[in-house]
Amino acid sequence: MEYIKLNDGIEIPAIGFGTFLIPPDGSTYRAVREALEVGYRHIDTATVYENEEEVGRAVRDSGIPREEIFITSKLWLSQFGDPQKGVERSLKKLNMDYIDLYLVHQPYFDVLNAWKGLEAAKKEGKIRSIGVSNMSPKIWNEFIPKIETFPSVNQIECNPFAQQKAVRMLMAADDVKVECWGPLGQGNKDLLTNETLRLIGERYGKNIGQVILRFETQEGMIVLPKSVHPERIKSNLEIFDFTLTEDEMNVIRALDTDKPSRNPDEPGRGEYLSKKFTIVE
Ligand code: NDP
Repeated sequence: MEYIKLNDGIEIPAIGFGTFLIPPDGSTYRAVREALEVGYRHIDTATVYENEEEVGRAVRDSGIPREEIFITSKLWLSQFGDPQKGVERSLKKLNMDYIDLYLVHQPYFDVLNAWKGLEAAKKEGKIRSIGVSNMSPKIWNEFIPKIETFPSVNQIECNPFAQQKAVRMLMAADDVKVECWGPLGQGNKDLLTNETLRLIGERYGKNIGQVILRFETQEGMIVLPKSVHPERIKSNLEIFDFTLTEDEMNVIRALDTDKPSRNPDEPGRGEYLSKKFTIVE
């Protein structure tokens, strides 16, 4: 496992297991157990995924010491008015004393109040590191001058077809790590059958998913692939035993179409998301 040091000194595994859309019907428990079994030590969940409880149970039942596993969760939009209550809810659902990384899931409405709450929870030792998600350069540049504690990460959509070069340059300048959500293009068929990626993988005996995740980690990003299939959960982790050459990296860099599927700056995005995804208090 490779680790990355965040700007607050906290070390995070460069690959985490994503759990978006894995339902809390036993599937999350099974997938997280499987992931831990094959070697993942970083799990990405969120309040709004409604599966924190199963994540927590899988972690406990794995028998792996809590401090060896890095847990990320996120505060949902409807909780920005009382962020401390949101953190408490996650701690209770996960049944843990602390969370390693907690993110403001979406950058809308009273995001400053949300941030202040996370800063307070960090001071109280309930969270080790705090970060943001889905911040475009415009949103970032408005947010940063108003806050005290610098975010440790910005979790954004990123894959070889949508490489987010502008956000990444800004984060690098501000010493903030980028976490890729949708690192496999959320199952995008065109990406996962891309001939260029397949040919590169063939040289190393690696599949397309592995080439993509290796590319992203070699670019210095943290990746969070999700799968419910044991063979994919395993193969997505097997990316640290080969290194893409600079020529191969450039070939993959050239696949960028600079068109992420979501635009955080789109007017009404916060309203849309808060209607589409809700949580039961
Ligand atoms: P991913 O890019 O991880 O893609 C997941 C999809 O790819 C699933 O359909 C999965 O299918 C399929 N898949 C997984 N591995 C392979 C493989 N090796 N070959 C082919 N297909 C594969 O998308 P996610 O949206 O899940 O993003 C990853 C994580 O990022 C999330 O789970 C979540 O934790 C986080 N996230 C955060 C967001 C935010 O706003 N901060 C937004 C979205 C995600 P199957 O399960 O059937 O194998």
